[in-house]
Formats: sequence, C-alpha cells, structure tokens
Amino acid sequence: MTFKNTLSYAQELDMQDPLRRYRNEFHFPKVNGKEVIYFTGNSLGLQPKRTKKYVDDVMNDWAELAVEGHFYAEKPWWDYHERLAKPLAKVVGALPEEVSVMNTLTVNLHLLMVSFYTPTAKRFKIICEEKAFPSDQYMLQSQARFHGFDPNTTIVEVKKRSGEHAWHTEDFIDKINEVGEELALVLIGGVNYYNGQVLDMEAITKAGKAVGAKVGWDLAHGVGNVELKLHDWKADFAAWCSYKYMNSGPGNASGIYVHEQYLDRKDLPRFEGWWGTKKETRFLMKPEFEPMENADAWQISNAPILSIAPYLASLELFEEVGMSALIEKRNRITAYLEFILREIDAAVDSSFEIITPKERGCQLSVFLHGEGKALFNYLMENGVITDWREPNVIRLAPAPFYCSYEDMYRFGQILKEGILSK
Ligand SMILES: *Cc1c(COP(=O)(O)O)cnc(C)c1O
Repeated sequence: MTFKNTLSYAQELDMQDPLRRYRNEFHFPKVNGKEVIYFTGNSLGLQPKRTKKYVDDVMNDWAELAVEGHFYAEKPWWDYHERLAKPLAKVVGALPEEVSVMNTLTVNLHLLMVSFYTPTAKRFKIICEEKAFPSDQYMLQSQARFHGFDPNTTIVEVKKRSGEHAWHTEDFIDKINEVGEELALVLIGGVNYYNGQVLDMEAITKAGKAVGAKVGWDLAHGVGNVELKLHDWKADFAAWCSYKYMNSGPGNASGIYVHEQYLDRKDLPRFEGWWGTKKETRFLMKPEFEPMENADAWQISNAPILSIAPYLASLELFEEVGMSALIEKRNRITAYLEFILREIDAAVDSSFEIITPKERGCQLSVFLHGEGKALFNYLMENGVITDWREPNVIRLAPAPFYCSYEDMYRFGQILKEGILSK
C-alpha cells in the first residue's frame, strides 16, 4: 500500500477505520484549547469515559451499603475481581483460571519469583535482557541477594550486538544453552520498553524450558499491544501492569498469569493470605490454607475494589473490540506513522533514525541525531505528548484504541515546523 502525506488522505483512512468511534470513548487532555496528539499510551493510557461510572458505582455502594457491599452491592466486592479474569485471559492468551488481578507489577513479579525462582547451589542463574527496565533490574538483584547469591554472577544479560539497536532471538537461545544446567530462571520484558521490540516469546520460552529453567515474562509493554498466547507457549508465569495500553489509571492493579500445571497445588512455595484460600471455606476462618484452584491462590489481601473498577471498565472495551481488530489497526496506523516520519526526514534533510525493528507493536522509538531536547520541548508545547528517554530518544506509540490517522498527519506537520524553526 502506498500512503500519502496529506490531510485529506489521512482523513480518508480515518473514514475507513472500523474503530474510529472508539476515539470518542476516551478523554483527551488539551493544549492551547486543542485535543492533544497522544503518543504516550505506552506509559499511561487515556481515561475511558465509561470508567467514572464504574468507580462511582463502588463509591455509591460504599455510601449506601457500607460493609454489606461485600455481598449486596450490584457487583459484590467479595468476588469482584473474578469478573476480570475472563476478558483478561483473552487479552493475554490464557485460560481464565490462569489469570488473576492483584497488587502492582513489581510486587507481583517478586511474589511470583517466590514460587518460580528457587535457586540451588548448582542451578541459580537468571537470564534477562541487557538494560532491562530499572525496576526489573532492582527486583532481580534483590532476589539474588535474598537467596544469598551475588547478583553479578547470578544475573546473565543478553546483549545487543555491537552497533545494533535490537536483539537477535538466536542470541537469547545461545545464551540459554550456554548457561544450561546452571539456569534457574529466564525473566524478560516481552516487548522492550525502550526500542519497542517484540521478542520471540514462544521460541525463548521453549529454549528456557528445554534446559530445565522456569520462564516468566514481564508484559508491561505487551499486554493490550501485541498478540500473546501465554498458555500455548507454555510460559510458566507472567505479570503486567494495567495503566499502559490497558487504560486503567495511574499506578493501578497488575495482572498475573500462572500456567495451569501449577494450579491447585499445595507443594509450591508461595506467600499466602486469606484471599488465596478456597472461597467456600474462607469465612470459616480456619487455620489451614487451602489454595484456590486457580491463579487467585496467589492473592494475598482482599481486593482493592476502587482500583480494579477502572480495570473492569477498560476490559469491557477490550472485550467489545477484541485484540485482533486492535492489532489490525495498530499495524496500519504504525505503518502510516513510519511513512510520515520518513517523509519529514527526507523533506527537512534532518537525520533521525527509527530504532524499532520490524518485530514491533505500536511503538516507534526515534533516535534524534542532530536534534535534541529543544525539539522534544517544541513538540510538547504544540500539543504532541510524547516522552523522552536518555540519551536522545523519543518514543511514539499511536495506541490504536484512540489515535487517528489525522493525528499522524498533524504530528508530521508539527515535527517539520519544529525542525525548521531551529
Ligand atoms: C512500566 C514498567 C514497570 C513498572 O512497574 P510498576 O511496579 O508498575 O511500577 C515495570 N517493568 C516494565 C518492563 C515496565 O515497562
């Protein structure tokens, strides 16, 4: 398909877009009285308009029913979180019983490592990607120390080849085979937050399991963005946050996935609490823990209803639209953004470089060679919300739920003016 860098062509693409009405389901911030061009859905998704009602309903039930809301609210609180499992399972390619919602992402990764990182003197190493998201690095280092290992000899990073911006799948597989019998765990960001690369999660999972390691995925940038088949890939576990592509609000609840082979088992190490024990007997307040037969066994505390209410609202939107329609639009709008970037690059004779490889979701990371922070500031002042990553990268994520093709065209014009004005 050949695109055109004109307003009328962008508007034509919008007219053909089967998801175009969903733009109106979201609140857009304004700059200079105009709705922004929002490229940071990979960091904090926009607020769906329907979310407020879900939160208000809980507030009203709390006001009117108080403690009785646990059982008599329209959506009773004691099993409110169970409503999220089915739609969320579809988003991540899991069985509903393999999915639960609780806590926040880094907390959940720590909790899952209690079950899936059980190092021995011989098998203790962890493979992750070079320059993993800082929170993941801190988590892995502190877990290694907690078990009495030196992080420097425990954590093995898979590096990019010199001068390249993306990883090669074979480099992960080679490293896994090299560490072999010493490898306890592979834990990697499935979609890299910096360069937007989608890793071959299926191949890496298979390789890790073949040498007897456990394999887990941090899907902060994967969930709601790319096709996931956690169950079919036989990943051991995964966790993700809900506030990026899942549009569930700042710092909101995380989701977890645990493969069905680990469900309904008492022999796994796990940090436990009353919300993970069988609900039939939970309120008998017995001393003995009976794990729920699904991933809810990892729940510790009673669920934070006010924060999972927005997650439920968002999942309703995902359920309505479906991942395949989102991915179809994602491919097209990201290709159009790439086209616009190349057009502007040629027009201004500037030199920026898209460092995202072709294995990608909706994010394009752009390395600004000559340009820098001043251009980024110009974009922000002119209603383009993007983000800056040191040393010289802006990340552009046209979330397919609410970004339009016209946004991409207008962005190109602002980018061009920004470069030419300096
Ligand atoms: C966003 C993100 C996080 C954030 O972790 P929180 O515990 O939710 O603060 C962690 N890891 C990755 C890879 C991320 O992209």
